[in-house]
Amino acid sequence: MQHLATRDSLTGLYNRAFLADRMGELLAPRAGQVDGHAGGHGVRGPAVPRPAVPEPAVPKLAVLFVDLDGFKKVNDIAGHQAGDALLRSVAVRLAGCVRGTDTLARVGGDEFVIVTGEYGDPSFLTALAQRVLDTIALPFAVGGNEYYLGASIGISVFPGDGRDAQTLMRNADSAMYDAKQRGRNNFQFFTAELSERLQRRFAIEQSLRRALSSHELSLAYQPIVEGATGRIVGAEALLRWHNGELGHVSPAEFIPVAEDTGLIIDIGRRVLENACMQTVEWRRTVMPQLMIAVNLSPRQISGELIGHVASSLERTGLDASALELEITEGVLMRDSDAVMPLLMTLARMGVRISVDDFGTGYSSLSYLKRFPLHSLKVDRSFVAGLPGHRDAVAITHAVVAMAHSLGMNVTAEGVETTEQAAFLRSIGCERQQGYLFGRPVVAGDFAREAHRLQAGV
Ligand code: C2E
Ligand code: MG
Ligand code: MG
Repeated sequence: MQHLATRDSLTGLYNRAFLADRMGELLAPRAGQVDGHAGGHGVRGPAVPRPAVPEPAVPKLAVLFVDLDGFKKVNDIAGHQAGDALLRSVAVRLAGCVRGTDTLARVGGDEFVIVTGEYGDPSFLTALAQRVLDTIALPFAVGGNEYYLGASIGISVFPGDGRDAQTLMRNADSAMYDAKQRGRNNFQFFTAELSERLQRRFAIEQSLRRALSSHELSLAYQPIVEGATGRIVGAEALLRWHNGELGHVSPAEFIPVAEDTGLIIDIGRRVLENACMQTVEWRRTVMPQLMIAVNLSPRQISGELIGHVASSLERTGLDASALELEITEGVLMRDSDAVMPLLMTLARMGVRISVDDFGTGYSSLSYLKRFPLHSLKVDRSFVAGLPGHRDAVAITHAVVAMAHSLGMNVTAEGVETTEQAAFLRSIGCERQQGYLFGRPVVAGDFAREAHRLQAGV
């Protein structure tokens, strides 16, 4: 009974419940000893300055959160039996990395935790983590096949990164997530910087939920000009967020949060509707041919999108051909069976589709000719190198030539100098956008500027 209650039935390692109990036992006697210590860089708040009196040594304890990389793929392709066998082999190898006094548990599908204490200095932890990475990197032989896995490891250390089991586990988990984001197959310690990042992200998430109803979000418009003449032909709508406490938050920072929380669906819908409405007005008062570019998050590319676009066009009366939706390369590479019919429908409605930040995503170009795309937006990292850097010149040249041969046009992003503009013009890039022609500005300023330029002042 005792065995069943404390063990994971697949691997025989300890289970999550036992781990929690065990950590409680280990931490109880330590807790008394750290009272008076400020607790390093835990998430509890800023460190309190303390007098430089020598501190009694606190018994060491650290949590290593180990998550396998590539396990789900094997499980999906080779089947659950092979997956189970693999997990058992992983358990055996992990057991070979730890000491008798350490606690090794399986806490989720492909998640393992090592709790270790009584070690000399922190280099013990890096050596342990490296040992785990090395052993997982060796091939696994299961059912006559060889499989390769990796691991991402997050480490939290008592008492700085937490004094209770829950906090230590959570912070080791966050550090593991950080390791995954840094490209997998590495280990990361929970750090003050990571803790700050998480707190900021949490604050953004909380405020963003309220931002929608409190009208803190607005749109800025950046001119898009015709390369040959420098005339304004359109605008890109770009989100702006001003929050009472956080101040101005850049879309590069809050859009990923909006995507993770699903808020982007609501936000994106309003962006689309407002941008269309604004453009209808401008086509009446400023420039009849003006087009509007609206960014779409990958999360918005789903069945609902068609309805949103259709209703925005219908409600505002905007001509479909005046709307250009910007998607990223990743969208085309991901699940193209689902994305293709959506883009086809949009194209049939007369909406244009462009690929934003082109050149920064995946390198497979075969998809370009399959999808109904109207233009490529050359990422500003390439434009920045023009005309001096050979590589940037070669890449921009190639992108323009390829786009033209596939019947698409090209917009250059981030054009800041007249030299860049002249070079882009010389290679036949149709449209340009960047600070040289105008920064993103509020609607009123955009209209004034467009009027001024049209009047040739
Ligand atoms: P993006 O769509 O590639 O937009 C261009 C970004 O480059 C904008 O940054 C713009 O302000 C900036 N930019 C334009 N010209 C120049 C230049 O000459 N030099 C430099 N250094 N930068 C220039 P912003 O407004 O901060 O937006 C960042 C990203 O956030 C956008 O990149 C887009 O991916 C995303 N975003 C913005 N608004 C929305 C939105 O409504 N929906 C979605 N899903 N994403 C959005
Ligand atoms: Mg864009
Ligand atoms: Mg871009």
